[in-house]
Amino acid sequence: LRTKLPAVGTTVFTRMSALAAEHGAVNLGQGFPDFACDPRLLDLVADAMRAGHNQYPMMAGVPALREAIAAKVAALYGHAYDPLAEITITSGASQAVQTAILCCVHPGDEVIVIEPAYDCYLPNIALAGGVAVPVSMALGDDGYSVPWPALAAAVTPRTRLIIINSPHNPTGAILREADLHALADIVRGTDILVLSDEVYEHMVFDGVRHESVCRHPELAARSFVISSFGKTYHVTGWKVGYVAAPKPMMMEFRKVHQYNVFTVNTPMQHGIASYMADPAPYRELPAFYQRKRDLFREGLSGSRFTLLPADGTYFQCVRYDAISALDEAAFSEWLTSEIKVAAIPVSAFYSEPKESGIVRFCFAKKDETLQLALERLSSL
Ligand code: PMP
Ligand code: GLN
Repeated sequence: LRTKLPAVGTTVFTRMSALAAEHGAVNLGQGFPDFACDPRLLDLVADAMRAGHNQYPMMAGVPALREAIAAKVAALYGHAYDPLAEITITSGASQAVQTAILCCVHPGDEVIVIEPAYDCYLPNIALAGGVAVPVSMALGDDGYSVPWPALAAAVTPRTRLIIINSPHNPTGAILREADLHALADIVRGTDILVLSDEVYEHMVFDGVRHESVCRHPELAARSFVISSFGKTYHVTGWKVGYVAAPKPMMMEFRKVHQYNVFTVNTPMQHGIASYMADPAPYRELPAFYQRKRDLFREGLSGSRFTLLPADGTYFQCVRYDAISALDEAAFSEWLTSEIKVAAIPVSAFYSEPKESGIVRFCFAKKDETLQLALERLSSL
């Protein structure tokens, strides 16, 4: 078999969750909540099933859900997408990312990826025959940031797509308005498209607003904006997300979408559409996760871990150089097997080996789960 993905093994999330299970460790590795979603959401999905919403929906998704998304985006970010022509429901953000890349990246096209990067971007670029051009984030006392001059220098006539992700997995960094202006300056006058992975859009802390690219008309006009209900409604296993993009881009997206999944499961789309009528669940999410972030940070403040800033997402990155000289993968394995708390090495999010002495913890957990992990971690 001639492999198309020679460098790809099993994802770090799968491996670390398996190791956590093997050692009975508290799993702060893979990002998912260990608490239940709102029972009302379950009732709404069950109602949709009983009401007979069990056959294929429209190819691009249940209209009521697309309308609810358009209304939310307009209310929060002031951009009016046409729900029928410019929004498509996807099987999680993962399928949206893959389909967006496949529909616009031709063999030999370059795609700029900011590293550390969520793990699904690079393999999908490779499957499209594209060439990933990594640009490393800068790491200073204020945490991680995007070095825009370096990114501008990475642009060539072959650049087809730039992938951004804010709030950012794994670092928890967020892009600010000035960042989006810098991005707009780089792409102005080119035919470069933008893939904006905003799955953590409702997890931005300390009263700061989420800087969706669709707040910026110039960027919205060339961007695929991607989000996921798995993160927002605590149902990562449902795999329902969406992509919003201007009509000509969405037409290309749907050409691929209709042949890789065709449609996404119907009753969950109806259930989520009804649930979205109430904005409270996503409006309350920043405060909900900020409290957990603060509990986790407070618990580690007396330990020998050094906390990096955590402005968004449900991840906290820490330095461990005062505890161990192991590399990130070895330290994460040791933490899982010996201390019984699983973490993810940030080195796993780079295309080339890079050690920063930093691991990522997920704090989307019940308070008692976090307390148990903190007892173990603060003894180090
Ligand atoms: N992008 C990022 C940055 C993510 O963290 C995740 C989930 N881990 C995804 C995309 C994929 O989301 P989904 O589970 O909805 O496919
Ligand atoms: N996005 C999740 C994380 O970063 C994991 C999703 C997955 O396992 N692929 O932990």
